[in-house]
Amino acid sequence: MTAHEIHLASRPKGWPTADTFAHATTELAAPNDGEVLVRNLFMSVDPYMRGRMNDVQSYVPSFQIGKPLEGGAVGEVVESRSADLKPGDVVQSMRGWRDAFVAPASGLRKVDTRVQPLSLHLGVLGMTGLTAWVGLNLVNVKAGDRVFVSGAAGAVGSVAGQLAKQRGCFVVGSAGSDQKVNALTRDFRFDAGFNYKHGDIREQLAAAAPEGIDVYFDNVGGDHLEAALSCLREHGRIAACGAISRYNEEGPVPGPRNMFLFVTRRLTLRGFIVTDHVRETKAFAAEVAPLVQSGRLKARETVVSGLENAPRAFLDMLHGANLGKMIVKI
Ligand code: NAP
Repeated sequence: MTAHEIHLASRPKGWPTADTFAHATTELAAPNDGEVLVRNLFMSVDPYMRGRMNDVQSYVPSFQIGKPLEGGAVGEVVESRSADLKPGDVVQSMRGWRDAFVAPASGLRKVDTRVQPLSLHLGVLGMTGLTAWVGLNLVNVKAGDRVFVSGAAGAVGSVAGQLAKQRGCFVVGSAGSDQKVNALTRDFRFDAGFNYKHGDIREQLAAAAPEGIDVYFDNVGGDHLEAALSCLREHGRIAACGAISRYNEEGPVPGPRNMFLFVTRRLTLRGFIVTDHVRETKAFAAEVAPLVQSGRLKARETVVSGLENAPRAFLDMLHGANLGKMIVKI
């Protein structure tokens, strides 16, 4: 069988472009004992993939030029030589960016097909949702906290803000378009939102949360972090989840100018990587799945069709085209 794949064609300097990617085909051998042939149905495009395009040692290995990119995917088993999986089973893997693959069944996780659409396993009920949940837990978000979430209309941010609302918090979000800001208050039931492109972030945050904030869930870094620091109250906490405003910078950038506030306001910053917390998946699912099933937590997706459009979906996500989780339907 011929599989179609998206490879890394070159390492981007600054913003990636269409030239960063190459389309390729490969002939798949029939599965050996213990292996399965999987046809991918959905794949995820995520900000962390930008970091993996650089040739630097980090918490995940770099993508290799001329090799397929990798990432979360959900696919259907079409042929099996494993007792653990049968044709028709749906599995989650890290073999996205291709329409089919052969792999040992032992490295794949069978998912619940009653969850529909199946892409939710890549979003609110997958790594995305776990990231939001873990970040809130690490800074002990509780009823009465005043929480600010940046990147709030995106995959992680929209879940973090909604979960904080479920816990009885006052929640403010920032996003990069008026349409997204409307979605924050209308669909995700945040208390307030603002468009960070419409003015000074600190001033807009102070207007939305005049009493200050207790928690900042940081997806963006940069100016957002500096603004949040100045609005945090004494003993405030920051969940350092990401810094997407920095991922395409070509060199080092200055940090916040108000770091001394960590001292005077006794602030805490907690960084985390979600893959350190996969063992908490069961507790996460027990809390979040019922919220999704009952509609109390909205799982928005922006779906792009066709593997050939996956590079465009990734670039569009970096540029802010997605509301909720960016998904590629293969
Ligand atoms: P996402 O928010 O769904 O998509 C990225 C969003 O970033 C875009 O839609 C865009 O929205 C926003 N953005 C892009 N450039 C920006 C800028 N200069 N300033 C402000 N916002 C900007 O992506 P996600 O998957 O949920 O990831 C969100 C963050 O969580 C990222 O920083 C990611 O690296 C991090 N993350 C961390 C972990 C972990 O383990 N620590 C795991 C998953 C994700 P706007 O239109 O609002 O600009």
